[in-house]
Amino acid sequence: MTYFPAADRYAEMIYRRAGRSGLKLPAISLGLWHNFGDGRPGDRQADIVRRAFDLGVTHFDLANNYGPPPGSAETNFGRILKADFQHHRDELIISTKAGYHMWDGPYGDWGSRKYLVSSLDQSLKRMDLDYVDVFYHHRPDPETPLEETMTALDAIVRSGKALYVGISNYKSEQAAKAAEILTELGTPLLIHQPSYSILNRWIEHDNLLDTLETAGAGCIAFSPLQQGLLTDRYLGGIPDDSRMRTSVFLGEDDLDGEKLGRLHKLNDIAKRRGQSLAQLALVWALRDERMTSLIIGASSVQQLENNIAALGNLSLDQSEIDEIDAT
Ligand code: NDP
Repeated sequence: MTYFPAADRYAEMIYRRAGRSGLKLPAISLGLWHNFGDGRPGDRQADIVRRAFDLGVTHFDLANNYGPPPGSAETNFGRILKADFQHHRDELIISTKAGYHMWDGPYGDWGSRKYLVSSLDQSLKRMDLDYVDVFYHHRPDPETPLEETMTALDAIVRSGKALYVGISNYKSEQAAKAAEILTELGTPLLIHQPSYSILNRWIEHDNLLDTLETAGAGCIAFSPLQQGLLTDRYLGGIPDDSRMRTSVFLGEDDLDGEKLGRLHKLNDIAKRRGQSLAQLALVWALRDERMTSLIIGASSVQQLENNIAALGNLSLDQSEIDEIDAT
């Protein structure tokens, strides 16, 4: 069926500026790491992307290796773009990345200029796009000089194949150096993409938000729901269709009795606020205005809607924050 985007799609969504750039992102963005590979029904994938756009989600996050199989999320997203979004490219922020293993041999992994440039060319082909809005280096490379990786990002922007650049999974110190090199090259770092959730707070110990503020860059956190742990998904057992049962990236080892007890306590706090546990987790992760956006995943339209509805009550007072810390 032909898709006509909702006329009121910008009415409710909150948009935050990425650092000191000109670009605003929706407070909640949609990631396609899971749920968009070849094993998932195409019509459900399209429904999730359509509904996201109808609710003001303008930003879709991909990477070369998302699937399974690697690359298939980009191919499937490209198909959705072609069918439904041909007239809306200028309303979309599409990001992709390279940095993890993508093809065999010395040029399909890490951070060389050879890998980044050829991987982005492949991504553009899979999505059938002329350019992406944000191109990321997906993880730091301990062997390639940072100057080479950052110069590759700068060259990619100059070639017109990306409008902005980002880094992901970099610690504060590396991020500051990367930002400095990029500034010298004239292509400022737009954004950093770290993991962050109530259950994963390394960026606080690493002072990452302070570092990014100094650099003028934004921050977009991935897995704010800790891959589904910070939702009602596992409160009553492990559902057969859950990520814990269907993906190698989340296992039963990730949820012991102590953690489950903590999730129940967090769920009680959420209920008192009239929110779901997922909504509480998102509100918490957005409490610092320097957090530009959160990238969530969703295996259904219902999950997506539930998550975006979190933006209806973003207030979180200090006593609630303390209570969350004490769980
Ligand atoms: P989340 O922490 O948001 O987990 C998403 C999963 O949680 C869903 O697949 C679903 O699990 C469950 N879920 C979501 N909403 C609800 C809800 N309201 N109620 C119940 N369950 C819910 O994020 P992801 O781990 O999926 O990561 C999000 C994105 O971040 C990725 O798609 C990717 O774009 C990016 N990312 C980047 C990385 C990097 O290295 N830069 C690494 C990892 C992710 P279920 O499938 O079981 O239903």
